[in-house]
Formats: sequence, structure tokens, C-alpha cells
Amino acid sequence: MENRILGIHHITAIAGSAKKNYDFYTRVLGLRLIKKTINFDDPKTYHLYYGNETGSPGTILTFFPWEGIGSGRRGARQLTEIGFSVPAGSLTFWQERLEKNNVIYNKAAEKFGERYLTFLDPDGLKFELTVAKEPDTREPWVTKEISASSAIRGFHHITITTHNIDHTAEILTEVLGYELAERQVNRYRFVTNAVHEAAIVDLVAAPGEMTGHVAGGSVHHVAFRVKDEAALLYFREKVAAKGLHITEKIDRNYFYSLYFREPGGVLFELATDSPGFLVDETLGTLGAKLQLPAKFESKRMELESLLPNLI
Ligand code: ZN
Repeated sequence: MENRILGIHHITAIAGSAKKNYDFYTRVLGLRLIKKTINFDDPKTYHLYYGNETGSPGTILTFFPWEGIGSGRRGARQLTEIGFSVPAGSLTFWQERLEKNNVIYNKAAEKFGERYLTFLDPDGLKFELTVAKEPDTREPWVTKEISASSAIRGFHHITITTHNIDHTAEILTEVLGYELAERQVNRYRFVTNAVHEAAIVDLVAAPGEMTGHVAGGSVHHVAFRVKDEAALLYFREKVAAKGLHITEKIDRNYFYSLYFREPGGVLFELATDSPGFLVDETLGTLGAKLQLPAKFESKRMELESLLPNLI
């Protein structure tokens, strides 16, 4: 049995307009829409999944777009930055592309010996495009405008901002198998050696920071990757042994999940590799049609008329 956390599985955030979200992630950033479905807990809302060609774990960014939702506030007890990995030599391309598309960005900087470029999505969600020290060998999704020499590979890291990192660090190291690798001022870099990519969690200690508010432009949760349902149950016991509340196993159609809130305030999910995104569509048609779980199929016409057009 593979009883390790295999890095990040997916990240789910909140957006305003679904159409703007679709345009930004597929056209400006060049990700593939790999699944168009509904929020199973709020079926009149989309759940949009973006990733590489197959939607490999570690590349999957998903959104709940709620039209007209107000903006959240970035702050403590939140996942405050999402780091994508891009190839060496591509930051100039990205800076020009962000500029041309009126995206708010900062000029490239460096931390932990890696160059990165910061930008905000249309709802204010904060990203970094990082050139990893070791070349990222993952196959990217390419588009007419973004070739393999620049395309996003998947996640590089996440940043969690907390008042006191100790309790989150304890969960990362004692439950999830991460180790403290480096520290730069108040940023502590934790890494798992179980995988090469999407393996980094940065904790930023910000004792005086106002607590953030999760709404538009905020991360809702981050899911860590486990191989299968047996590993999921193994980690359920480990989390519960720390005295944290953790849900029962939930069927999310494309993976099985558990959720718990880590002591630093961020909602963590654990998600399996299987069954994956090819369970209801072929590789060539991923994301083309609205996919509904069986129990919502009888409401397809009503839901399709309520959900906004993406194009
Ligand atoms: Zn999730």
C-alpha cells in the first residue's frame, strides 16, 4: 500500500463571472478545461476544472463561479498564493502576455534561488509563475498562442499565511510527511520527497495580519493527493488521532475525498487518483459537455438553462 501524501492533488477557488474565468484560464493562461460540471452542494453553480491534457493530479485548478459574489480579503488563516511551474526562459514571454491582457502583475523577483513572477487573476486571486530549480518534466497542454517552451506545467507550491505556523507545521510534518527544507525571513518551505512536482508548501508566519475572508478571488480549499481509498482511510485515522474533526469518505465522481480544517484555518482535503476524469468523457472531448452526477441527470434541461454560457 502506498501510504504517502503525493503532493498537491487540486486547488479549488471562488470566482465571480464564469465566462471571465473561462476566458482567463483557457485563453490567457492556456490551461485546458478538463471538466465542466456543477457544484454538487449547489447544483445551480458550475464547478469548472482546468489542468493539463488529462487533468493529472498536481495540475488541477478548479473554480466555483458565483455570479456577482463580492470580493474576499487576502489575509491570515488562508491559502494566499498559488504557485505554477513554468519553464526556464519563459518569464519574459509571460510578462509580455500579462501586460497585453491587462493583468495586474509585479516584475520578476527571486526567492529560495528561484525566479518568479506574481500576478492576480480577474477576481484578485494571487499567483506566482516560478521557474523551478530542477527542470519540470511534466507534459503541458499547449495552445495556438502558448507553446511547450512557455506553457504552465502544473503546481509548483502553495503558500499558507497564518498567525503562528507551529500547529500547521505539525500537521504537515507529523501527518502529511512533509519536512522543513528552507527558511527565508518569515517564510518556511516544507517539501515532501514522495514526488518531484507539486511537492512544496510554504508557511508564512504573520502574527499581526488580519484574518482573511473567503469570497470571490479566494481559495476555498486545497486537496492533497493519495493513491487510493485504502490510503485515504489510513490518513483519516492519522488526522483523527490529532484530535481534528474529519469527514467521512465522500464520492466526488472523479475522486474520493475527506475534508478537515487544519489548525491554521485552511480547509484541507485528501483526494484519490482514481477514478479520474476519463470516467465520463474521452480524452479528446474532456470538458466539452456539461457532466452531471446521475442524481441530477433528470434536471439537465433546467440546469443547462440556468448556467451561464462560457463562450
Ligand atoms: Zn476539492
